[in-house]
Amino acid sequence: MIKPIIAANWKMHKTIPEAVAFAKQLKKEFPEPGRADIVIAPPFTALSSVMEVLKDSPIHISAQNMHWEEKGACTGEVSATMLVDAGCEFVIVGHSERRILFGETSKMLNKKIHTALKSGLTPIFCIGETLKERESGATFRIIQKQIKEGLNNITSDDIRRITLAYEPIWAIGTGKTATPLQAQEVHRFIRETIAADFEHARASETIIIYGGSVKPENTGSLMDQPDINGALVGGASLDFGPFADIVKISER
Ligand code: PEP
Repeated sequence: MIKPIIAANWKMHKTIPEAVAFAKQLKKEFPEPGRADIVIAPPFTALSSVMEVLKDSPIHISAQNMHWEEKGACTGEVSATMLVDAGCEFVIVGHSERRILFGETSKMLNKKIHTALKSGLTPIFCIGETLKERESGATFRIIQKQIKEGLNNITSDDIRRITLAYEPIWAIGTGKTATPLQAQEVHRFIRETIAADFEHARASETIIIYGGSVKPENTGSLMDQPDINGALVGGASLDFGPFADIVKISER
């Protein structure tokens, strides 16, 4: 039985006091482990302070990005070792904003995934198609390519330690959600691709979460789908009320 993950991606939002206030509310509302794992991805500047608040709670911390090198002359970058040091257990890899705005390629993402695993971090590996790709019928081909390239040389053992996030680019921050059936279709395809590339047993254990304008109103119908194991939430994770509702709905 897969334990769902509800992850908040705060992107470039929240000062340290704002992040700490949110973390305190979250800890109060969810003091014990629930039926879903909660993961918060604050900006780098707030990681340590949020960790201080959440260290004795069941809530996990994620980074939004990392470099694939362990250390070196990479001005402005942060390594996996530094993230572990700051208390992270997860790291988002390959968010479409990183791919599009910062030119991150599948080759770079594959290196990041290998380094993250080596450092003990769980990568949340994001994949998804553009609207143009969907409309031209290329969705499955693109998803398959992103999985093959991003997970190149990953072992069957390591696939268990990776969370996949299907995030159709046309649904991110646009208010357009994939319908539950559209999302389920792609999630099932992702699981079948993992089964073909790795092992059936591993594929049935792989956590595949959905991201793209998730809000309390659509959480229930998305989470009812058999291959959707949680959500990566952007906009609706910035305010405590809607995010707490998303967690509660996903635990029903
Ligand atoms: C995201 O950026 O990962 C995301 C899913 O954003 P939103 O929920 O705002 O669409």
